[in-house]
Amino acid sequence: MADEDKKAQDIELTGSKGDKILRPEGETGKNTDSITPQRRNDDGAQQDKKTNFMADLLAPVAGFGVSFSTMFRKVTTEEYPEKPRPTQARFHGRHQLNRYADGLEKCIGCELCAWACPADAILVEGADNTDEARFSPGERYGRVYQINYLRCIFCGLCIEACPTRALTMTNEYELADSERAPLIYEKHQLLAPLGEGMLRTPLPMADGTTDADYYKGDVTGPTSTQRQYAEARDEQREAGATGEQDSAQEVYR
Ligand code: SF4
Ligand code: SF4
Repeated sequence: MADEDKKAQDIELTGSKGDKILRPEGETGKNTDSITPQRRNDDGAQQDKKTNFMADLLAPVAGFGVSFSTMFRKVTTEEYPEKPRPTQARFHGRHQLNRYADGLEKCIGCELCAWACPADAILVEGADNTDEARFSPGERYGRVYQINYLRCIFCGLCIEACPTRALTMTNEYELADSERAPLIYEKHQLLAPLGEGMLRTPLPMADGTTDADYYKGDVTGPTSTQRQYAEARDEQREAGATGEQDSAQEVYR
């Protein structure tokens, strides 16, 4: 019998209890009665014993490993809400509806944000701008805009979908309440406050510009015509409010 065949006979066999049995050299595979269990790996067994001993010894304290290592770390106590911790710069917090530099709104009421939202948290209703009441450059503006923060998962897909960068997310995260209704934010809560030099809407577009000029950032502030329009409108409103007060007082006379 060739040497290779002989070696092949020394292959490990598996006994009924999983013991590994080596067939002694010189015995053929035909006479299985003559195979005896033998030659466990004594070194391996001793190693196992040592490992088990150490594991048994350390078992009672092993569970405290995390506790002990934590005890020696520097304690960081957040003094919230007195000193709220600043968020990361790109933290996804409450949404904001932005404005152009003259105060007109960037939202065009296209509803793309609402369609992109996986949680169905946004409701938009667009309406037409008119010469008498213009809220955004172009044809349409967002008349109704709601975000339901009971549903929102702050994934940011809505801001990715917005074609005019009207919708962005702030770092504000204090959005808890004990009732459900206040967590549905309306347009006036989401609209960015007026920045320096901005005028309140409704407002005509800057002279000689198109919505594309606004989109490209060519409008950098209100023009004198827009200012005059806003002043005249505010005066008219104040006069109207005074007139209403006078008539109300007359009713009580
Ligand atoms: S952040 Fe995500 S879940 Fe929240 S309104 Fe936008 S798309 Fe919807
Ligand atoms: S926020 Fe943007 S995507 Fe949503 S309706 Fe307004 S313009 Fe369209």
